[in-house]
Amino acid sequence: MKVTEICVVPAERRIRLTVEMPNPDRFLTSQAPHLPRRLFRLFPNLSQHKCENGRGYTFRRECRQTEIPHLFEHLIIELQAQAQPAEVLRGETHWNWRVDPKGRFHVFVDYENELLAVGAIRLAERILQSLDERHLEDVDAELEMARLREVARLGRALMGQEKEPQGDGKTVPVTASCSPVRSPTRVPANGTQKARGR
Ligand SMILES: [Zn+2]
Repeated sequence: MKVTEICVVPAERRIRLTVEMPNPDRFLTSQAPHLPRRLFRLFPNLSQHKCENGRGYTFRRECRQTEIPHLFEHLIIELQAQAQPAEVLRGETHWNWRVDPKGRFHVFVDYENELLAVGAIRLAERILQSLDERHLEDVDAELEMARLREVARLGRALMGQEKEPQGDGKTVPVTASCSPVRSPTRVPANGTQKARGR
């Protein structure tokens, strides 16, 4: 999975990402079950994410078969929330392969700290890559989070917000609401698909 475009929309406090799957036929977690398994082990808080997937599944259950970029979306939100206490951060994952080449996804994530968000995106990309290539030793979650918290601090300093937001840094009010995730091979009449995280 590769992030090919990062577009910051300050007015909406949202970042839009274009994500490409190198193999357009391999985009589901069921094709790479080691990915969610290892990710939930590294970041147990992910199991507390809300995910409105139309089936009433918990996010953990949803991850048995969902789009890898949807997992990526949740990971970006989780990393941001761990590095800096946040209100609810939302995300969405869309794709429309009538317009775009197969394997392209559009991921949207909220942010409160722009520099942190970009750091979280790059870190999430690297973590998924390492886990997918089974290079577990490349991921030192504690060290990465310490770095990311420093990025968050720099981001606040850049924006003239020196004070750390209130929160114990443990409770992660992250939620994600995702619309029914159907197989993109069955494109609905309007030709779009959406997995929405909130
Ligand atoms: Zn979700």
